[in-house]
Amino acid sequence: MLISGEDYIQRLSRYRREIYVKGERISDFVHHPNIRPAINTIAFTYELAKENDRYSPYSQLVDERVNRLNYVNQTPEDLIGRLDYQRELSLRTGTCHYRCPGSDAISALYAATLETDKRSGTDFHKRFMDLLSVIQKNDLACTGALTDTKGDRSKRPIEARDMYVHVEEKREDGIVVSGAKIHQSGAFAADVNFILPTQAFKEGEEEFAIAFALLPEDEGVKYVLQNTGYQSKLREGGNFEAGNKKYGDRLTCTVILNKVLVPWERVFIFEDIVAARRLLVHFAISHRCAGAACKAGFVDSMTGAASLMLKANGLDKVPALRQRLGEMVGIAEAAYGIAIGAATKGKSDNGVWQADPLITNAGKIIGVEGFIKVLMNLAEIAGGIPVTAPSEFDLQNPDIGPYLESYLSASPSFTTEQRLKIIKFIEFWATSSHLIGGIHGGGSPTAAIVALQTMADLGLKEEAVKRALDI
Ligand SMILES: Cc1cc2nc3c(=O)[nH]c(=O)nc-3n(C[C@H](O)[C@H](O)[C@H](O)COP(=O)(O)OP(=O)(O)OC[C@H]3O[C@@H](n4cnc5c(N)ncnc54)[C@H](O)[C@@H]3O)c2cc1C
Repeated sequence: MLISGEDYIQRLSRYRREIYVKGERISDFVHHPNIRPAINTIAFTYELAKENDRYSPYSQLVDERVNRLNYVNQTPEDLIGRLDYQRELSLRTGTCHYRCPGSDAISALYAATLETDKRSGTDFHKRFMDLLSVIQKNDLACTGALTDTKGDRSKRPIEARDMYVHVEEKREDGIVVSGAKIHQSGAFAADVNFILPTQAFKEGEEEFAIAFALLPEDEGVKYVLQNTGYQSKLREGGNFEAGNKKYGDRLTCTVILNKVLVPWERVFIFEDIVAARRLLVHFAISHRCAGAACKAGFVDSMTGAASLMLKANGLDKVPALRQRLGEMVGIAEAAYGIAIGAATKGKSDNGVWQADPLITNAGKIIGVEGFIKVLMNLAEIAGGIPVTAPSEFDLQNPDIGPYLESYLSASPSFTTEQRLKIIKFIEFWATSSHLIGGIHGGGSPTAAIVALQTMADLGLKEEAVKRALDI
C-alpha cells in the first residue's frame, strides 16, 4: 500500500509516546516546533513515492506497490532506484529523511536471518518476513538504532554492561531489554524502530548480540530530543528565521529502554555473535552507499543556495565565484557516481543486492571531504552575513526595520526579505547539526578508513610496483 503524507501524520498522532524536549515531557508531539520538521520530512517521503514509480516498486511479498525504502532490493537497478530517491529527498527537503537506517535494517535483517536459519535451523527469517509484510501492507516508516552509549571506550561491553543494550531476562513471551541508543535520527516520528547491535561482539558477550523491532505500543521507551542552538531557533518561531523551518536539520534523540518486553515474534537475532557480525557488515555497506547519494543531494541543495546568493548579491557574473559552483556540482556528481558505481559492481547477498564494500567505503571518505569543501565554498560565496545578519523580527520592527530594509538590500532582482531568506538558509546549512551529521552519520570516517585498509589487497598493488621497478 502507498499512503499519503497526511495519512502518516494522522497515524502518528494516535501514538502515546514519552518524549522529552528541553527537560519537559511533551503531550502533543506532532505539533511541537522541534519535532514537526522531522514529521514533515517523513511525510514528504510518502508524497515523493507517489510522484515517481521508481520509488514504489511492486512487491511479490504483499502483491502490491510499496515504498522503495521498505523494499528488499534484488538488482543493481533496484538499488539505484533507492539512491536516486534519497538524492532527490535530500535536495528537496535540505535534510535527512530519517527512513534510511530503517531501510538498511530491512536489507541487513533479510540477509542475516536467512543465513542464520540455514546455519542453525531456526525460524528468524519467517518472523522477520511476517513483520516486513505488515510494514509493506501498511506503508510504515522505519528507523534503525545501532549506536550504543558505550561509556569508557577502552572497556569491552562485558565490563560496561549498562552502556550497551542487553538482555535482562529471557521469558516465555519474549525478552526484556535495557540500555540506551544515542544519536537516533527521527526515532520519535517512526512507526517501527529496528534496534540493532552497535558493534561486533566476542565470545562471552552474547547478551549484547541481539536485534529486534520496537513498536509504538511497547512500554518503557523514552525519547529525549537533542537540544542544539538550531533547536532553540526553531522554538523562536517566525516565518523564515530558522532557515529551513518546514524540514529542519537532522533531528535526533536518545532512546532509553527501561526493561522493555519485546515479544519473540519481533526478535530477529538472539545472543548470536555470528549473526550480529553478519548483520553489521551488511548494514554498514548498505548505509554508507546510500549515504553517498544522500550527500550528493545535500550538496545539490547547498549549490542551489550558493547560486541564488551570488545572484542576490549581484556577483553572478564574477568568474572566480562561478567556478566555485562548478566545483560544487563536481563534488555532488562524484559522490553520486561512487554510490552508483558501488551499486553497479555489487553482488547478491542471500537475495539482497549488496553494493561493493570497497567502493562504498571510499564514498564515505570522498563524500565527507567533499561535503566540507562545499561548505567552505558556500561560506566563501555568501560572505560573513549568514552568521552576522539580524533576524526577520528586526525587519518587522518599525524603529529599525526601514533601515535594515535599505542597508541589507543588494541586487534589485531580490527584495531584502528574499535575500535574508537565502542568507538564513545558508546559516542553517553552516551552523546546524548538518556538519557533524555529515561527518559521523553512517559511522565515523575513521571506521570507513579502517574498513578500506582491512579489505584492500595491498599486496597486489605492491606486486605491480615491484614488477615495474624490477625489485
Ligand atoms: C546527526 C547524526 C545522526 C545519526 N543518526 C544515527 C541513527 O539514526 N542511528 C544510529 O544508530 N546512529 C546514528 N548516528 C550515530 C553515528 O553512527 C555515530 O555518531 C558514529 O558511528 C560515531 O560514533 P559516536 O558518535 O558514538 O563516536 P564515539 O564513540 O564517541 O567516537 C569518537 C571518535 O573516536 C573513534 N573511536 C571510538 N571508539 C574507539 C576505539 N575503541 N578505538 C578507536 N577509535 C575509536 C570513533 O571512530 C570516532 O571517530 C548519527 C550521528 C549523527 C551525528
